[in-house]
Amino acid sequence: MFDYLIVGAGFAGSVLAERLATRSNKKVLIVDKRSHIAGNAYDHYNEEGILVHKYGPHIFHTNSKDVFEYLSNFTDWRPYEHRVLASVDGQLVPMPINLDTINKLYGLSLNSFEVEQFLESLAEEIPVIKTSEDVVVSKVGRELYEKFFRNYTRKQWGLDPSELDKSVTSRVPTRTNRDSRYFTDTYQAMPLHGYTRMFEKMLDHPNIKVMLNTDYHDIIDFIPFKEMIFTGPVDEYFDFKYGKLPYRSLEFKHETLNQENYLEAPVVNYPNDNLYTRITEFKALTGQKHPKTAIVYEYPKAEGDPYYPVPQPENAELYNQYKKLADNTPNVHFVGRLATYRYYNMDQVVAQALTLYKKLTEKSEEAVKAAAKPAITGSASIIDKLVPRDPAKGKP
Ligand code: FAD
Ligand code: UDP
Repeated sequence: MFDYLIVGAGFAGSVLAERLATRSNKKVLIVDKRSHIAGNAYDHYNEEGILVHKYGPHIFHTNSKDVFEYLSNFTDWRPYEHRVLASVDGQLVPMPINLDTINKLYGLSLNSFEVEQFLESLAEEIPVIKTSEDVVVSKVGRELYEKFFRNYTRKQWGLDPSELDKSVTSRVPTRTNRDSRYFTDTYQAMPLHGYTRMFEKMLDHPNIKVMLNTDYHDIIDFIPFKEMIFTGPVDEYFDFKYGKLPYRSLEFKHETLNQENYLEAPVVNYPNDNLYTRITEFKALTGQKHPKTAIVYEYPKAEGDPYYPVPQPENAELYNQYKKLADNTPNVHFVGRLATYRYYNMDQVVAQALTLYKKLTEKSEEAVKAAAKPAITGSASIIDKLVPRDPAKGKP
């Protein structure tokens, strides 16, 4: 009998397996339908011996000391600050838009103050920021929106930014200084030996059994367990009872090139040209030295593995219906990017999983206390049934 059946060996499932096994001495079975652990963060050495991320570039960044310290139990880190160039008007310019982006694009030599005024002069006044178009147009105006955001977003999501929640393009800031980092989080680093190695350490415990190439539907009737943690798509769990929740998918085209370097930056975005959104060169992320180089192209698709929940009001409403079902499903806990339909980064999923772990331990401590309480107080309880109060009455 397992205490927990965990569906999905990505961040959500693996963090919970690790905590429950090592901290609460629970017996855990973790299953994944894929042939590997680590979910979408899975990395591996390709046929040429270059470390690549199978499901696209994964760059770790967080402001949470707790999350960073927690993961540091399972890996050393390579400091890494991510940088992206965008191919716009035949030039490669820094993305997020910053002082150098504007100067290069328009052949200017503005300082920080001047570029702030320049962007203010372009920005449109939008009283209530609702959509992903509003976010950008209200900061940098329509022309820069068209050059950097409109077509990239249409390609990535199959939707116009005006149809997407503001949270999507809000992920990318606008700067008037020369900071060319993609993220400004306190902790920015890559696991020194890769994500998969980190997951192997997390799951290496006698209380944890890992079963790969296994859809949970195929084992659920045969393996006894007390509670389930589910990290797959929530609509699938409920047999699409209210209809399908949209997830955006991608096709990854991996290539190894017979040259030491390829791109001018770790990632180059192509907002306006090509069918792919971006190219990543892995050695730039991992720091690996190798005479060849490995890159990946990302082609967005409607069908395929679910990668991105689609932030739109109607989808949020549909998800809320599933959430009500999920909240009323006893002994099944839904966590992670797919199961809670949230466009979460890795650190947010780790934080969500740690929070659920805390809730589960509090719940089981309460259960222990509740079971112990009658014995302590001596009030009406199981004890009463076992030991008759009036010894006389209890005699056969
Ligand atoms: P997943 O990693 O999706 O794990 C869920 C697992 O459940 C999967 O392995 C799946 O096979 C399994 N599963 C589903 N259904 C079943 C079933 N029926 N039976 C058995 N197993 C099942 N985050 C960052 O912080 N930085 C980045 O740079 C970054 N880049 C990204 C790039 C791309 C292209 C994508 C798609 C995501 C990126 N992310 C990034 C987000 C990151 O991948 C997620 O936050 C994180 O991996 C989510 O973990 P999870 O455990 O919730 O889900
Ligand atoms: N985006 C864009 N142009 C860019 C980069 C991002 O329009 O050059 C928009 C796009 O809608 C994208 C969103 O901003 O989906 C969030 O970008 P991020 O880099 O965070 O996407 P992710 O890495 O999660 O795919």
